[in-house]
Amino acid sequence: MSTQAQPATLYVVATPIGHLDDISRRAIDVLATVDLIAAEDTRHSGQLLQALGVQAELLSFHEHNEDERMRVLLERLQQGAAVALISDAGTPLISDPGFVLVRACREAGIAVVPVPGPSALIAALSVSGLPSDRFQFEGFLPRSQGKRQARLLELKNLPHTVICYESSHRLRECLADMHAVLGADRQAVIARELTKHYETILSGTVTQLLERVIADANQERGELVILLAPYSGDEDSYTLSVEQMLRAALNELPPSQAAVLVARLTGLKKKPLYQLALTLQGTAT
Ligand code: SAM
Repeated sequence: MSTQAQPATLYVVATPIGHLDDISRRAIDVLATVDLIAAEDTRHSGQLLQALGVQAELLSFHEHNEDERMRVLLERLQQGAAVALISDAGTPLISDPGFVLVRACREAGIAVVPVPGPSALIAALSVSGLPSDRFQFEGFLPRSQGKRQARLLELKNLPHTVICYESSHRLRECLADMHAVLGADRQAVIARELTKHYETILSGTVTQLLERVIADANQERGELVILLAPYSGDEDSYTLSVEQMLRAALNELPPSQAAVLVARLTGLKKKPLYQLALTLQGTAT
């Protein structure tokens, strides 16, 4: 039974993250029958649509024109058009634009219909071998080292799997920060190039993964997801010792000086340590 796109409806349509055959029949039917497709990169999506044999009006919709295009799309929807939202890969809105459009449509009483399909985070989790009953999706970690370390400090004691998107050219520095903040023995998985020719799933401690990436430059190519095992309490005591060092320093020094001291001892950035020091001070009884 083929699906016919309904008027005045926004379809949020997932597209492949690599393998073209992962597009669903329903997604093809919807893309073929909507009046307009809002796409992150019209050239990229044009190639996908051509491969699927779909001809459609395309409108670019990305993070830099989201507000202006949202008005155009809302107007078209209110006039009765059926619109599909797609991104370059996977599920729109998942580390991709679309949230403000979906919110605006729902507020305006316009029907919003999901056409589910691939997403790198779920594909990665499904093959990682890490606990999947509870997990936290972090999207992209901050780019700057200080902010990234601060985020990792927030994540380090979580009792569930943590999933991060990361650019391959930041993989090494990201693993080095994970090593420094989470401890050398934290288990992790790198799921790279999922559904593509060079699909690779590596698992081990962050130390082993860092060594592997340093030894094999191919591991720094393509697209990847990093998954962190839940905190188990018996990882390298280095992670704990950061906290212990800070607690000890806080007994003698104000937070800013405690952070400077522990930064010198560990090589970690001062700012996240200062934030942790404030938190520790706040929770100390
Ligand atoms: N909307 C997409 C989704 O549903 O997964 C994610 C878009 S986000 C801009 C792109 C990031 O997703 C990449 O940097 C990478 O971390 C991850 N990703 C996308 N495709 C991937 C693939 N085939 N293998 C591994 N990671 C992938």
